[in-house]
Amino acid sequence: MAVRNVQNYIDGRFVSSSSPKQLDVHNPATGDVIGRVPLSTAAEVDAAVQAAKRAFDGWRRTPPVKRAQHLYKFKFLLEEHFEELAKSITAEHGKTVDESRGSLRRAIECVEVAIGIPTLMKGEALEDAGPSIDVMAMRRPLGVFAAITPFNFPIMVPLWFLPFAVATGNTFVLKPSEQVPMSMQRVFELLEQCAFPPGVINMVNGQKEAVDAILSHPDIKGVSFVGSSPVAKYIYETGAQNGKRVQALGGAKNFLVIMPDADMEKSVAAAVESCFGCAGERCLAGSVILAVGQAHEMLRERVVEAAKKIRVGDGLDPAVTMGPVISAKHKERVLSYIQKGIDEGAKLLLDGREIGKKENGYFVGPTVFADVDPSMVIAREEIFGPVICISKVDSLEEAMRIIEGHPLGNTTSIFTSSGKAARDFQYNVAVSMVGINVGVPAPMAYFGFGGTRGSFFGDTKAHGQESLNFYTDKRVIINRWFS
Ligand code: NAD
Repeated sequence: MAVRNVQNYIDGRFVSSSSPKQLDVHNPATGDVIGRVPLSTAAEVDAAVQAAKRAFDGWRRTPPVKRAQHLYKFKFLLEEHFEELAKSITAEHGKTVDESRGSLRRAIECVEVAIGIPTLMKGEALEDAGPSIDVMAMRRPLGVFAAITPFNFPIMVPLWFLPFAVATGNTFVLKPSEQVPMSMQRVFELLEQCAFPPGVINMVNGQKEAVDAILSHPDIKGVSFVGSSPVAKYIYETGAQNGKRVQALGGAKNFLVIMPDADMEKSVAAAVESCFGCAGERCLAGSVILAVGQAHEMLRERVVEAAKKIRVGDGLDPAVTMGPVISAKHKERVLSYIQKGIDEGAKLLLDGREIGKKENGYFVGPTVFADVDPSMVIAREEIFGPVICISKVDSLEEAMRIIEGHPLGNTTSIFTSSGKAARDFQYNVAVSMVGINVGVPAPMAYFGFGGTRGSFFGDTKAHGQESLNFYTDKRVIINRWFS
């Protein structure tokens, strides 16, 4: 297969980066090089921002209903190229094609919701707020916005932002993950057919230099970030110091609470899918199962049996149910956590290390630890790989204390048939995306998406109504006419 050189998209056309620095992009299932991505310079970021700035005035004056027409066309093209894009995600990320399809469906959902912008963006008005005084509040775009995205959802996470940013009348610069730049390259080819005016949408590939150029650029009004927590914190602090709106979604360590009264078959199936789906590389992936009381004995063997049924291999093979992890480096990281778990004294019920030894790609098999103390490193740190930790706890209250004591708070789920336990959990647990008998509680595009504590820095979350607040300023007009 030909190795493709990834380009930037600036001012309505594809341009090759002039940066001498570039990285190889690998297919993680084979280790083959499938592309080369430039590490663009600050000057290239500036060119994209200048184009976006020039485009802003015309675009913001374009009626929302007309702006939405470009997104209708985009939605149509995403549907038309659905299978091709799903395979592209699998080729550069490794997840199964079915998982890629699911993420693409979620991406398209964001476009569909943003198409409702003429309704979503309507403001407020009050007649006779005072004597002969009418007051209204109108949502107005702010200018140029940027988004910096992670490797684990090559198309979905960029589309958490792009459709809402441009639907609201802002112009946009994307910096995709340098590990998975190929699918967004193809998406921008489709966007080129949607006839956005030059400069409305831009893409600059790269790494830290490009990110820092975004954070310090005086003409960027706001930055969205999704990635690991240390970088999210850096983005939030630096962007805020430079006077920008920032929403920075960080890493995760997600706890699944299984009560003794849960439907064990269905709950274990959902928990195992949560932990091993996308090879554990989802910010909503379960990581630690907190088995309450009797649930511990009831689920241990079931988890191992379900994990053994997983077929590891190239995600393009329809028989495969779990693909590789993203890179050789990340594989080493996951393996080092497995070793840490053993060293810490957790009981290794299923060892995924053997699978990786036989293949060229970056494979780690499903791994299950039991007798995990919540203070162990494997129960504390984000592994972002196919490793389940099972801990026994005595009560729901103890489970919630462990969850609250963890510095990250992205998502959590409870499995139970008790309405009381479910209500206690949804009301009291200290996490802001909560599942009840749902393994991966991913908010739909018409709700906000984001965690709490060390998993989220900012106040307005991604997509849904929240993103309307992020991308607009509400101008209040107080109106009086003298008679
Ligand atoms: P990452 O933090 O390494 O990279 C994310 C982005 O930041 C990339 O575009 C990268 O180029 C850039 N970047 C990396 N290091 C940087 C630095 N030092 N300075 C400036 N920019 C830098 O994250 P990743 O490995 O690509 O993605 C996995 C992480 O993302 C996991 O921690 C996962 O939990 C998290 N994630 C969170 C959510 C969420 O909704 N909270 C969603 C998806 C992924």
